[in-house]
Amino acid sequence: MITTINPATEEQLASYPAMDALELTEVISLADRDYRRWRTVAPLERRAAMHRLAALLEAEKQQHAEMISREMGKPLSQAVAEVKKSALVCSYYAEHADRFLQSEESDLDGMQGVVRFDPIGLVLGVMPWNFPFWQVFRFAVPAIMAGNGILVKHAPNVTGSSVAMESLFRRAGFPEHLYRAVHIDLEDVDRLTGFIIDHPAVSAVSVTGSTGAGRAVATKAGHALKRSVLELGGSDPYIVLDDADVSAAVNHCAAARLLNSGQSCIAAKRFIVHASVMEVFEEQLLVRMRSAVMGDPFHPDVEVGPIARLDLRDQLHDQVRRSVEGGAKLLCGGSIPERKGYYYPPTVLSGVRAGMACYSEELFGPVATLIEAKDDDEAVHIANDTPFGLGSAVFSANIERAMLIAARLDTGNCFINTMVKSDPRLPFGGVKQSGYGRELARYGIREFVNIKSLCIA
Ligand code: NDP
Repeated sequence: MITTINPATEEQLASYPAMDALELTEVISLADRDYRRWRTVAPLERRAAMHRLAALLEAEKQQHAEMISREMGKPLSQAVAEVKKSALVCSYYAEHADRFLQSEESDLDGMQGVVRFDPIGLVLGVMPWNFPFWQVFRFAVPAIMAGNGILVKHAPNVTGSSVAMESLFRRAGFPEHLYRAVHIDLEDVDRLTGFIIDHPAVSAVSVTGSTGAGRAVATKAGHALKRSVLELGGSDPYIVLDDADVSAAVNHCAAARLLNSGQSCIAAKRFIVHASVMEVFEEQLLVRMRSAVMGDPFHPDVEVGPIARLDLRDQLHDQVRRSVEGGAKLLCGGSIPERKGYYYPPTVLSGVRAGMACYSEELFGPVATLIEAKDDDEAVHIANDTPFGLGSAVFSANIERAMLIAARLDTGNCFINTMVKSDPRLPFGGVKQSGYGRELARYGIREFVNIKSLCIA
């Protein structure tokens, strides 16, 4: 059985039976059957089903948001926003998938060349708990609009959300088994994920999660010679230049660090600040972090909920402890509160340098690290001095200067004078140990297609 726990109260929520290899085989065979039917369904019908899914999400957003907040602890208003964003990605691909998948024609010395974008089969999604709906929809919606079928192995602590999403796809009118959730017990995860990937009906896998999970799953996909897309961790640098509007930068930086209680791959994790504005930036950031209200995710004033699991909260605290031992200065937070729930307070570490845990590791919680840079070159060097390469941001009054820095950053995206956010209209993904491949926009839907060339004499 898989048991879910409310991280705000430490109470058990529900238990779900885990699947074994026999049950998985049955699920895969039903999903494969429905995929074969779905790939022949006309684009107009696919679009109508996707619009119905968007409408269902909108209509039921409150109930799904409550499930998300109960299972992983994010403040309710943020969970509602997550469900709304999931509806948005459905509408986006319902509107644009046809155009993104349009065949391309060319003249080949008198013969006709055609490039088609055909479905590839079942795609497995290995998904994390931090955005239990959004991460799944972002992966599954374009893959389905391209004519594929979906299997989702979600993180066990959000199994209720996983069950709810399967029901949503069904009720929206997609074939019954086109989208299937598979429930796998923690101790079987390595073996049974491998079992699914090896199945001949499964063509590809998409992972969102830690670098370790990405490496484990991509190794299996590589062995089976199947395609993978990896959206892994990040340690996003936010560079604040000496000509930046510091107050505005602080607002964006704090919001980007505190969103989802700091548990986001694209959260701002390292603040690299020009020496001449460090003092004022630090002072204002401290005020903002200290004033963030931590507590019950269902309370409307709460900005920071609990960390999603006890082990993750302990891991975060250990990273802070090791950073302080390594010489970082603790300006606020940094201790586990005496209360029920896996809470960790907004924390600020200053004087951070290479070699400290918070310089090189991903901190998945509301912990800001301040690193001083003497000029633009040093800021770029520090920003790139990490195994990760997901998001980044630059704050400056001079857009040209910020653009020059953006071009030098080894990251999958760079936002200027605002915080990093995923958007259905922009490709999303990373470089280095943050993974490979892209989700969203035209690029995302083309990850899981057979790019087929025709030549007509
Ligand atoms: P994981 O990366 O372990 O979990 C994400 C998903 O991957 C889960 O469904 C998990 O399943 C699965 N997974 C993990 N290992 C394997 C494997 N060998 N084979 C198949 N599936 C696997 O993240 P955690 O929840 O343990 O969090 C640890 C750290 O990962 C966080 O502190 C954070 O740094 C990072 N993380 C990054 C995320 C992002 O958005 N980039 C999201 C979540 C975490 P199971 O839980 O059953 O092992």
